[in-house]
Amino acid sequence: MPHTLTTLVSQASAGLGCTPDVIAAAPGRVNLIGEHIDYCDGFVMPFALDRNIVIAAKRTNSETATLRSAGMPTATISLAAPQVIGEPTWTNYLRGVIDGFQKLGYTIPGFDAYIVSSVPGGAGLSSSAALECATATLLEGLLGVALTKKQKALLCQKAEHNFAHVPCGIMDQFASTFGEENRLVMIDCQTGEPTMVPFENPDLAVIIANTNVHHQLSDGGYAIRRKHTEDGLSIIGKASWRDVSMSDVEEKWDMLGDPVNRRSRHVVGEIARTQEAAAALAASDFARLGTLMYASHDSLRDDFEVSCAELDLMVHIATEIGTAGGVIGARMTGGGFGGSTVTLCESAQAESIMATMRQRYETETQIVPQIFCSRPSRGAHLVNV
Ligand code: ADP
Ligand code: MG
Repeated sequence: MPHTLTTLVSQASAGLGCTPDVIAAAPGRVNLIGEHIDYCDGFVMPFALDRNIVIAAKRTNSETATLRSAGMPTATISLAAPQVIGEPTWTNYLRGVIDGFQKLGYTIPGFDAYIVSSVPGGAGLSSSAALECATATLLEGLLGVALTKKQKALLCQKAEHNFAHVPCGIMDQFASTFGEENRLVMIDCQTGEPTMVPFENPDLAVIIANTNVHHQLSDGGYAIRRKHTEDGLSIIGKASWRDVSMSDVEEKWDMLGDPVNRRSRHVVGEIARTQEAAAALAASDFARLGTLMYASHDSLRDDFEVSCAELDLMVHIATEIGTAGGVIGARMTGGGFGGSTVTLCESAQAESIMATMRQRYETETQIVPQIFCSRPSRGAHLVNV
């Protein structure tokens, strides 16, 4: 299925059934390295995918919003009252963002909206942040206002916390709003400041492999991991993970106890790996970057325990293709327990690597994966109508 922005815009307009007043687009993201540390004052290195959620909307003279999304149940929600969590579940991401704008003092005009997407859902590529950021951008268009990118990302993060009950860090919404072509969004999650890092070498390609599995554990697993890191930091007795060294973790190993000691080792190791990855990228030391990606995966599998057999298999296949076949590095990406892996490789070999990954993964699991290349792309924006 073609997933270009132009195609999505036509599909959204067609689904709306009339000429839209406003069209907003926001991308999903993939994280190259720096996993499960955006809520630990760490560094993360995602980029905005060239896959988007697009919302087309028409103003109405009502005090309601009618929300339709391809393949999902429709809902009409009131804009006259404060937002509450409701059914169908997917509308909560929009309700949360509307709530954020209402709390800023804006009166949202009535509208009908139609949503289409090329971001695989529940695949660790942050379709939820794309939906929130597309909604926020749509509301900016309907209201004729513009929030700062940071304000918008934080409003969307709050929507995910309060309306989807996912205590996510700042990575997903920052990547979706700040994304630019040929740039990684390196985020210092302690200061909440993104730095745009060039990523334009045409010889490098990024492969995203959606395992098409989503293990139920993910529902509580994320919040439990977050709690482990909070416990770890409090036992170590520092104000921020950025002040914690590996020897601090080793000294307190028994007091931290299992699994908090291993969770802590992941956090400290991953913060260091991500900083080192930024330096390796700046020096075009891709072999080092690849080694760091593999080390990140091992740590997420063994210490943070958020991987699963299917993610491990996909990374294993990439490892076996190896440098001889053009693979530079691979790891799971996103929250884990299923979802996707990210593989850095030589562009010239990308097609054959993807073919091997598809074939071997399907043979071993009987599951058809979804594997594609993506380059860093533009963040959330209004599309000219
Ligand atoms: P991820 O963010 O990794 O894709 P989440 O579980 O956080 O996974 O978010 C997926 C949820 O986001 C879906 O269950 C659905 O509620 C919502 N969502 C994603 N894409 C769409 C869409 N195109 N239309 C409506 N809701 C969507
Ligand atoms: Mg999500």
